[in-house]
Amino acid sequence: MRIIMKFGGTSVRGDGFRRVHGIVSRYLPEDQIVVVVSAIKGVTDDLIDIAHRARRSDEKEISEFLDKLVDSYMELVEVNVGREHLNEAYALASKLRRDLERVLYGIMYLGELTPRSLDYVSGYGETFSAKVGAFILGKLGLEAMGLTGKEAGIVTDDNFGDARVLLNATRYSARRVLEPLLEAGKIPVVGGFSGATQDGIMTTLGRGGSDYTATALGAAVDADQVWLWSDVDGIMTADPRIVPNARTVPELSYREAAELAMVGAKALHPRALEPVWDANIPVYVRNTFNPNGPYTVIHGKEEVNAKVVKAISLIRDAGVITVYGPSMVGAPGTAAKVFEMAASTGTNIMMIAQSASESNISMAMRKGSLDRVYSALERELISKGILRTVEVEDDVSIVAIVGAGMKGTPGVSAKIFSAVAERGINVVMTAQGGSEMNISFVVKSEDSEEAVRAIHDAFKLGEA
Ligand code: ADP
Ligand code: ASP
Ligand code: MG
Repeated sequence: MRIIMKFGGTSVRGDGFRRVHGIVSRYLPEDQIVVVVSAIKGVTDDLIDIAHRARRSDEKEISEFLDKLVDSYMELVEVNVGREHLNEAYALASKLRRDLERVLYGIMYLGELTPRSLDYVSGYGETFSAKVGAFILGKLGLEAMGLTGKEAGIVTDDNFGDARVLLNATRYSARRVLEPLLEAGKIPVVGGFSGATQDGIMTTLGRGGSDYTATALGAAVDADQVWLWSDVDGIMTADPRIVPNARTVPELSYREAAELAMVGAKALHPRALEPVWDANIPVYVRNTFNPNGPYTVIHGKEEVNAKVVKAISLIRDAGVITVYGPSMVGAPGTAAKVFEMAASTGTNIMMIAQSASESNISMAMRKGSLDRVYSALERELISKGILRTVEVEDDVSIVAIVGAGMKGTPGVSAKIFSAVAERGINVVMTAQGGSEMNISFVVKSEDSEEAVRAIHDAFKLGEA
């Protein structure tokens, strides 16, 4: 079999590469394995932060940051294979450090951070993980080869920060790189999250993008399976940090899992299922810390089970913009203009609601988009008198409930909203339409976790 195994940010930290080694070794030499790795947990946030700070920073601050970054990877080497390999690893890390340093200095001297340089910097944790990880796996006895996403042939469009993988181009270039390695019994260790445009400019695939790297490579090299190794027992009925009795969902269809990912379940990147869906490659979500424990398989089969609801997801960093205007009533073009303005800022509108009187429209989005959308509305519609007022709520969260056949089953919606009402929680906004397997609503952030627990209890998702 040919399997792509992706190890997330918590799976590679500490002595994680020993576990990676243990897991991968079980399948050798019978199976062919491609390893995909994330940055050590927290490193991507730090890189994004230093990229922004570099604009107003000095060489000393940048240098100190780089020392710390190199140290954290040297610690991995020490913990996993011992001090005696530090010198050799240090030479490798210093070379990586130099390239990153040049870019950060560039940002500093220009005082400008472009989307292009931000992607170069923010994807660098994965570069370190791939190169240092391959070094460690090599010392542990595997024939491993560290590659960045670009070197492995991940080709993307140039939508920096949230690039889309171009599957045909990737298929062509990734095969050329990976096939010879796999045929020779080697283990490619590929940095997730980042790729490059056809011109070779580094891009990133959006937060959590290593999942997407794994599935894209899976489709590219015709893998039999893709395994996503994380720190929980697969995809759960809710975030186990919110609902202690959350259980593993044993099976999900591609549609259900994609819906869950799109509504923000942190467990999976929103576009991760695109590459494997048509190719019908199953995706297993498993726990590195409990490798023989329960797991989730995502595949083409779809079953409506007795509980109908399969999982509940919470999007914490949401916001709502509501617009009011005299000319909204009976003026069909106004709503279109509002959405056009929002779209022109590149914002993904997650929910829409229009009041029955037609005098207002509410849109839910990520909090980070609120300012942009507000400015666009102000510039184009308020100043011209088309809208009267715009209200912004930035302390709200979206609760999304997913399961095939939910909308077609009578009483599901009533059960959801009465469960929430019984705990005294006020619903700020509900969506009309939406997909048949997802019901979403907005609540105040302070109520959001309780709302998730209320629904989890109402549908008895914690019970077998
Ligand atoms: P990785 O770095 O391994 O990709 P992530 O942090 O991206 O890990 O995703 C795993 C985390 O997602 C878990 O630790 C868990 O807290 C969170 N999570 C949120 N919702 C769910 C869910 N429904 N099922 C499983 N994990 C979830
Ligand atoms: N390291 C990246 C992130 O934190 C990608 C990933 O972990 O999948 O978003
Ligand atoms: Mg992730």
